[in-house]
Amino acid sequence: MAPGLRGGARLIPAGRFAPSPTGTLHLGNLRTALLAWLYARAQDAPFLVRIEDLDTGRVRERFEREQLDDLAAIGLDWDGEPVRQSARLDLYADALATLEAAGLVYPCWCTRAEIREASSAPHGPLPEGHYPGTCRRLTHEERSEREASGRPPALRVAADAAHVAFTDRVHGAQEGVVDDFVVRRNDGAFAYNLAVVVDDGAQAIGEIVRGDDLLDSTPRQLWLAERLSLARPTFAHVPLVLGADGARLAKRHGAVTLADRIEQGETTADVRARLAASVGLCDPAERPSPSELVVRFDPTGFTPPPSGPLPGL
Ligand code: GLU
Repeated sequence: MAPGLRGGARLIPAGRFAPSPTGTLHLGNLRTALLAWLYARAQDAPFLVRIEDLDTGRVRERFEREQLDDLAAIGLDWDGEPVRQSARLDLYADALATLEAAGLVYPCWCTRAEIREASSAPHGPLPEGHYPGTCRRLTHEERSEREASGRPPALRVAADAAHVAFTDRVHGAQEGVVDDFVVRRNDGAFAYNLAVVVDDGAQAIGEIVRGDDLLDSTPRQLWLAERLSLARPTFAHVPLVLGADGARLAKRHGAVTLADRIEQGETTADVRARLAASVGLCDPAERPSPSELVVRFDPTGFTPPPSGPLPGL
């Protein structure tokens, strides 16, 4: 049966986990994957894995294999073969062409330092850190000068500081302003925000469950989905695991990967239980199976604690 089709021809929107194969998954990534899987499976929805491998400079093949092995080791399964973004460049090119045809794309020659400087102060409706649209307002001369420089431009959307509102299952009502974000980098790579929206649309992802570091990207992605006539998914942005110092979990925090924990004498069931217990899905002493967790998981009532360290780590 094709993913997405269960119970006859009724389309059940899928869930997904979309890791970038640029390193080993740590316990925070694994907890996000577990929760994305639980949201999907508790609603009897398909669950897909997508390999976000567009950043060719940082991607390593061995991480892809290792990440899939780690997901399977903690008891997660997925429908169909994982797709790789690197095999879907035509789809992103088509989407970009649609945006270009609608006059929604412009070239940007700004360097990182110029962007940092330009966005370091609030600009009208745009909060600090957002690109203020410098290259959209170039005079004819300024533009010719940049074109002649030979430096390839990035491509940005003209979003006109649009307001986008949405409801997140975990964070409630949200609203954000959309800046002129990049859809193709100046090295020619399609940007994360473009690829993710195209893929979530093409794969009929109905509910996006991911770390809440991406909550701020959601207005951009919803804006883009609308411009590309793609259905609006729902969202659950789940808390991140932090190190004891309050920073995002990273290698320097110690034994933070599945392999590290196994080396410390834990089993995969111990690790799954630790992840589940940290968001209130079981007692620390329990060792629930994946299917027991699915039965317990209530997508509408799940209220995880805020981002923080994993107890006992
Ligand atoms: N590939 C992204 C990451 O690993 C996740 C993108 C998403 O879930 O939207 O951070």
